Amino acid sequence: MKPELIPVLDRQTIARLVCDLGAKISEDYRGRPLVLIGVLKGAFIFLSDLVRSLQIPVEIDFIQVASYGSGTASSGEIRLCKPIDVDVRNKDVLLVEDIVDTGLTLQFLLDYLSAMEPASLNVCAMIDKHERRRTGVSVAYAGHRTQEGFLVGYGLDYDQKYRELPEIYHLQF
Ligand code: 5GP
Repeated sequence: MKPELIPVLDRQTIARLVCDLGAKISEDYRGRPLVLIGVLKGAFIFLSDLVRSLQIPVEIDFIQVASYGSGTASSGEIRLCKPIDVDVRNKDVLLVEDIVDTGLTLQFLLDYLSAMEPASLNVCAMIDKHERRRTGVSVAYAGHRTQEGFLVGYGLDYDQKYRELPEIYHLQF
C-alpha cells in the first residue's frame, strides 16, 4: 500500500522558521568568521535557504556520512563518505543538519569535527526529533522540535524519494 503524506510544515511556516534561525545566528555570530557545514544529502535545501537568510558572511562546506541500516531506522554504524575541505581550526563552526533523531550521526560528526580544533562547534537542525534520542548531543538552533514520526520533503527522503517537496510531511505507512 502507498504511504500517506500528512502535512506537518507548509512553505510559509518553513520560510518563517528559517528566517528566525537566520536572524538569531546572525546576531550570535556577528563579527566572527563562521563556517557552515551542511550534512549531505538531506540538508542541502535547508542550508541553501538558511545562508540566504543570514546577514553575516560565511564560508560553506559539505560533509557526507552513510549510516548502515534500512527503512526508517538508523543502525548507529556510521561511515564518513565525504570529509570537509575547509580548514576549521580556530574558526567558529555551525553544523547544519536536516534532522536529528537518535543523535548518533550527530555525535559521530561532532567527534570528527572536534578533532580539528574549531574555536566553537554548534548545531543547527531544521528538525529536532526527540523520542528516539540516544546521545546527549544538543541542538543549539532548531527550526522545529517534535517528538516522533518519520518526516519527508524539504530535502528529507525516504529511499531517495520526496526530497523535492517544498513542504514537510509525516510519512504514514
Ligand atoms: P540519527 O543518527 O540522529 O538517528 O539520524 C540522522 C539521520 O537519519 C538524518 O540525518 C536523516 O538522514 C535520517 N533520519 C532520521 N529521522 C528521519 C526522518 O524522520 N525522516 C527522514 N527522511 N530521515 C530521517
